[in-house]
Amino acid sequence: MEVLTAHRCLLGEGPIWDARRKSLFRVDILQGEIHEYRPSDGHFHTISVGEYVGAVAPYRDGSLMAALKSGIVLLDPDTGAREAVGHPEAHLPGNRYNDGKCDPAGRFWVGSMSLQEEPGVGSLYMIDHDGSIIRQLEGVTISNGLAWSNDHHTMYYIDTPTFEVAAFDYDLSTGAISNRRVAIRIPESEGYPDGMTIDREGCLWIAHWDGWQVTRWNPDTGRKLHHLPMPVSRVTSCAFGGDTGNDLYITSARTGLSAEELGRQPLAGAVFVVRGVNT
Ligand code: CA
Repeated sequence: MEVLTAHRCLLGEGPIWDARRKSLFRVDILQGEIHEYRPSDGHFHTISVGEYVGAVAPYRDGSLMAALKSGIVLLDPDTGAREAVGHPEAHLPGNRYNDGKCDPAGRFWVGSMSLQEEPGVGSLYMIDHDGSIIRQLEGVTISNGLAWSNDHHTMYYIDTPTFEVAAFDYDLSTGAISNRRVAIRIPESEGYPDGMTIDREGCLWIAHWDGWQVTRWNPDTGRKLHHLPMPVSRVTSCAFGGDTGNDLYITSARTGLSAEELGRQPLAGAVFVVRGVNT
């Protein structure tokens, strides 16, 4: 396992590989920053958005879809120029957007949560190709990990305090989800399930907040297959990337840790990479 750069995020989140730019994007939600890192030459670039940014995703025309506190925008990663897409929670100033990702058809999904982590006031939205925004789930507390099966028939979803990965039937043509069930139950001793991704074998890799680990699970059996110990407690999310798509990038946070805790985990807030995992 390697540490990507010397930069430490307050709340590093949402790693996503941009195959066009051969870059890793990630956000620091609390600092209001988007970071781009290009492994080929070590280029590191920060876009300061000046407000909470829950997630970004590479989108059409080389732009990023970005879920800002003030709404969802298309953002030019080179100039920072923004174009408004929508703001389904404009009436909920106590909420912010959290984890988000594009589905296999390229629609952006993003969830929300209360700034105070108030139960059940978050939702999960889908931004369709025509820009329309559909609320897919309500009553969510901390909307987090999203992943789609390799055959595009199933969506996986984590609302963190449930300690579950939910599975839904997923309709690629419309984005409709149905038939919610529990795919994985995560013991509370493992730490809070946060962001996740899926590998070529259809297994889920889950980051554990306050759990010092990333774990790999078979969603068909609900069994844990592997755990990857981390040198930081607040492991937030993970994504595959690199030229081959085989490298696992892992984000972390240092927010909320005491000076003593930070002394024990000086890498808190770093981004890590484990090479050759997705085989
Ligand atoms: Ca998260």
